Amino acid sequence: MQRSRSLRRMDRVTPKGRHVLHYERKKNSLPHCAICSKELNGIKASRSKGRSLRKNSRIFGGVLCANCASQVIKSASRVENGEMKLNDISIRQRTYILQMISH
Ligand SMILES: [Zn+2]
Repeated sequence: MQRSRSLRRMDRVTPKGRHVLHYERKKNSLPHCAICSKELNGIKASRSKGRSLRKNSRIFGGVLCANCASQVIKSASRVENGEMKLNDISIRQRTYILQMISH
């Protein structure tokens, strides 16, 4: 167990002055946007949360940040109306636009 790197090592000095290692579970990293890799708002990193508390209920909630989601929604409607072509859109946005159009 102590060789595993899923636990982080904490240097501690006991009251007697001995130097010991304590092992603690690492903190979960915050979820990030899949396009701009910004931290997602409104979501906590803890494990013990219900499904509705893990992500917001917006389209692409828990995957994209609000700015990127609005960009994707705009571009998707433009592609559907023929004002834009799929090739004009960056590859990262394209997968989500294709998801929106297929619905
Ligand atoms: Zn983003």
